[in-house]
Amino acid sequence: MRLKKSLGQHFLKDKGVIKRIVDAGGIGPEDRVVEIGPGGGALTEEILKRNPLELYLVEIDPDWAEYLKNRFGDRVKVFNADATTFDFSSLGENLKFFGNLPYNVSTRIIRNLLDHRKVMKRGVFMVQDEVADRLTATSGKEYGYLPALLQNFFRIKKLFKVPPKAFVPPPKVMSAVFEMEPTGFNMEEGELLAFENFLKKAFSMRRKKLKKNLGIKKFPPPFSGLEEKRAEEISPKTFFELFRALYLNKGGL
Ligand code: SAM
Repeated sequence: MRLKKSLGQHFLKDKGVIKRIVDAGGIGPEDRVVEIGPGGGALTEEILKRNPLELYLVEIDPDWAEYLKNRFGDRVKVFNADATTFDFSSLGENLKFFGNLPYNVSTRIIRNLLDHRKVMKRGVFMVQDEVADRLTATSGKEYGYLPALLQNFFRIKKLFKVPPKAFVPPPKVMSAVFEMEPTGFNMEEGELLAFENFLKKAFSMRRKKLKKNLGIKKFPPPFSGLEEKRAEEISPKTFFELFRALYLNKGGL
C-alpha cells in the first residue's frame, strides 16, 4: 500500500525501538491498551505479544484500518476515526496509551487526551524531538501555553531520541519518545477552558510582560511583582495558582 505523507505515515521498522517503546508502557494481562495511529501495525504486533486484556486501535486512514482488521482479527478493536476528536472515554477506564503520532497533528491529539485524562493510566508517545522538548519545558523559549497547561495535569518525561533511519520513509527530523502520567490534579471543564484561554493570553506576545498580555497592572499578593515578568519565566504550577487567585476565588469566571 502507498504511504500517505499528508497523514504523517512514517512507519517504524527498527525492532529495537519498537520494543523499547512498548517496554516503556509496561503492559500486563490486566491492561486495556489504546494505540493511536497504528498504521501498518509495527507497534500493534509488539503490544499483542504482551497479551493485554483489550487493544483498541484508532486509525484515520480507512485503507490501513481495513488492513489492521484483516491482519489482527478479533484480537483488536479497530476504530476508523480521527484521534484529534475521538472520545477515548467511551473505551473504559485505566487505559494505557501508545502511539507513534502523526507529526502534523501530534499536539492536537495530546490536547484531546487532556479531555480524557480521567480514563488514562499512562501514555507513551513518539513525536518530533522538538515537540518532546517543548512539552517537557518548564521555562524558556521552548515553553508555551500547552506545556504550562498539560504539566498541571500530567507528569511528562522525555525518555529517548529516535533517529530518522528507524522509519520508512525516514522523516527529515529527529524524533523522541516521552511518557505522560496523570497527576490526579483536576478541574471542572469550564475552569479548564478558562485556564487554557488565560494561558494563551499570557503567552500571546512572548517578549511582552504579563501585565501587558493579561491587561492587569498589579497582581495581588503573594504574586505581587510577577506582573513584571514574561510568561516564559512562570512555572506551570505558579500559573495555576495565579489563575486561581485572579479568577476562581472571586466567585467565578
Ligand atoms: N504506528 C505506526 C508505526 O509506528 O509504524 C504508524 C505511525 S505513523 C507516524 C502515524 C499514523 O497515524 C499513520 O498510520 C496515520 O495514518 C495515522 N493518523 C494520521 N492522522 C491521524 C488522526 N488524526 N487520527 C488517527 N490516526 C491518524
